[in-house]
Amino acid sequence: MTKSWTVREVLGWTKDYFRRSGIEAARLEAEILLSHALRADRLELYLRPERVLTDPERLDFKKLIRQRHEGTPLQYLIGEVDFFGCRLKVSPVALIPRPETEELVERIVKDFFSSKISPSWILDLGTGTGAIAIALARAFKHAQILAVDLSEGALGLASENARENGVEARVRFLRSDWYENVSGVFDLIVSNPPYVPREELEHLQTEVKKEPAIALDGGPDGLEAIAHIVSRSVEFLRPPGRLYLEMGDKQASRVRELIEQAETFHLDILRDIAGKERFVRAERLAPRNISTFAEQE
Ligand code: GLN
Repeated sequence: MTKSWTVREVLGWTKDYFRRSGIEAARLEAEILLSHALRADRLELYLRPERVLTDPERLDFKKLIRQRHEGTPLQYLIGEVDFFGCRLKVSPVALIPRPETEELVERIVKDFFSSKISPSWILDLGTGTGAIAIALARAFKHAQILAVDLSEGALGLASENARENGVEARVRFLRSDWYENVSGVFDLIVSNPPYVPREELEHLQTEVKKEPAIALDGGPDGLEAIAHIVSRSVEFLRPPGRLYLEMGDKQASRVRELIEQAETFHLDILRDIAGKERFVRAERLAPRNISTFAEQE
């Protein structure tokens, strides 16, 4: 006869198992996965610690902890994340949205709110789960967003996320290799492109290696995608449009050089919450001999 396992016992066992696998937040992850397997919230685990798991529950949970032990990210097992107030589905077809990217969205929203302009046309390059596009659609209620990705799988996931978050009418998804199939001009271009230098890919955490390489691999110096996005941004931004990018924490000076080559930008490097130079904000200046609408007033 197999032993019957209570919630309390299962949590204790899993915490030790995860700790031995090198998972830092072992107890928390055990709770999150168990509540997922039991389709209950975490509080339930505390309220009914003596509840005995049914056989199917025990088997489901066992499968989850084995995958977690083998390095599958927690978020892929749970199947969703919270991102800037949106609930997003995640799967191995797309990068798991990071807190840094949430910071980028927050920064964009704050900047536009304080300048009292609202972007009408937004382009999100390499949308993945659709995180940035969807969060911006919810923040800027009148904006139209074009979100592109090369991966069909990502576009499918992102469209589903847009529907679930009620913004499908204002976010259009398009399969495109960066700007390739994009036309029109935008007030805001944003991207969290792949920026990991290729030779660092093999040294990434096991969890990150389970994420799609297309979302991480930034070419030999990590700057391939960023350089391309910057080089053509002038064509797609109408002054005083802005470009916001996430980048690697050692890439600021190279990215600065790339943008300064374009000359028509006012540039700021912004730090993330950990103090690392993580984002770039570039504003496209109007050509000198053409006065802007604001200047005429
Ligand atoms: N921040 C991610 C990581 O370190 C990289 C994301 C990206 O390349 N856009 O795993």
